[in-house]
Amino acid sequence: MNAPLSTPKKAEEHLLEAAREFQKCMQCGKCRSVCPVFKEMGNELYVARGKNKLAEKLVAGDLQISRRVKDAINECLNCKTCSANCPAGVSPEHVVLRLRWYITTQQGLGFFRALIFRQLLWRKWPITLAAMLIGIAQRALFGIGPNNPVRHLFPLFGFSKRRFFPEMALRSAQSQHPEVIPPKKGPAKMRIGYFTGCAGNLIYTNVVKSVVDILTGYGYEVVIPKKQKCNGTPVLANGDYEGAKMFMEHNFALFNHYDLDAIVVACSSCGMALKKEIKLFIDDSPTLRAFTGKVYDINEFIEKNIDIKSDDLGRLPYKVTYHDPCHMVRGQNISEQPRKLLRMIPGVEFKEMKDAAVCCGSAGSYCITHYDTAIKINNHKVRNIKAAEVDYVATGCPTCVMHIQDNLRQHESGEKVRFVVEMLADSLRAGGKL
Ligand code: SF4
Ligand code: SF4
Repeated sequence: MNAPLSTPKKAEEHLLEAAREFQKCMQCGKCRSVCPVFKEMGNELYVARGKNKLAEKLVAGDLQISRRVKDAINECLNCKTCSANCPAGVSPEHVVLRLRWYITTQQGLGFFRALIFRQLLWRKWPITLAAMLIGIAQRALFGIGPNNPVRHLFPLFGFSKRRFFPEMALRSAQSQHPEVIPPKKGPAKMRIGYFTGCAGNLIYTNVVKSVVDILTGYGYEVVIPKKQKCNGTPVLANGDYEGAKMFMEHNFALFNHYDLDAIVVACSSCGMALKKEIKLFIDDSPTLRAFTGKVYDINEFIEKNIDIKSDDLGRLPYKVTYHDPCHMVRGQNISEQPRKLLRMIPGVEFKEMKDAAVCCGSAGSYCITHYDTAIKINNHKVRNIKAAEVDYVATGCPTCVMHIQDNLRQHESGEKVRFVVEMLADSLRAGGKL
């Protein structure tokens, strides 16, 4: 029998871990000047300092779990801006996560979260089927324009009426590609596992095609394990520690089953989950260290390993800016690589926008549960994009693409939001390399 992958976590352990973090807080208030939520809401309970204080009272037993407490704990983007700027080295987002997990141990998961995380997402086929049906409906309704009466139904599913959604794929990316894809020419340089993520699989299938084309075009064998599931980020962010552990353990065991030299992702949250957050769920071991050590964001992998010659690239005559996803720039310390790839494309005029690394407000499910605040935060991003006067906003996170594109459409702005790897693949196709 296999040894257990991690020891069971008790409610008290979540509180203890939270206490380890908040005890470092000096209450200096520096986080007030950087927290995007606090900037919009101006409520001390929503900033890291307030959350630390609240956690302290909860742990001391001076405060009960109430609606107000849960509200404060849920008002967080997990953008890591506070921890990146904290002089005491506190990670308030970890205090928030621990408290969310603790609250679930006390109050349970609830019907809807249990249904979504433990059934629909875990079984995978219901989500895949739902995406396909939504994709058919979107096409039948011509993309659901701003005045389409179908918008009146959105609130029934928890969505704002004014929201623009990306088009769901009719066929998942994982069903469009074989599990093992050989290099286009010659023996394989490396065997690379590709964790597509749910958004790549069900929405941004062109991103998956771009990654596969580039890697196989430059001599790599690509493996897309069909049994991969969600990376667990939405599950852990919504208070379900045990559920997230199931997803992490599943993907860890699955990818270890293949003899891989590297694992690539084209989603900032998937990258952060597989490199870092997995360590919160699976006990440290040489196998875990070997696993996390071979996970790369696709921009990072290409920049480090692939020698793209200028002759390989065709011209893309566009003005382009770059938005840093939080889980890429602060979660994985990746910011130069995607810019370098964009700058090497002939014809691209790269224009840095103001506050490129400031959170866009998407934050996974935050932009579903807290849409109005998420849009207020995003309005700053849209203003900076417009000021940069570009054709394209390039980035590396599906929810950033979704949220920024949604708000640009609401502002009737013509800029398109794309993944860096898609633009690079377009240039390589135009250059005849792919
Ligand atoms: S979390 Fe850090 S920045 Fe915020 S009040 Fe505490 S010590 Fe200061
Ligand atoms: S992680 Fe972001 S949203 Fe959450 S408290 Fe820190 S700065 Fe504010």
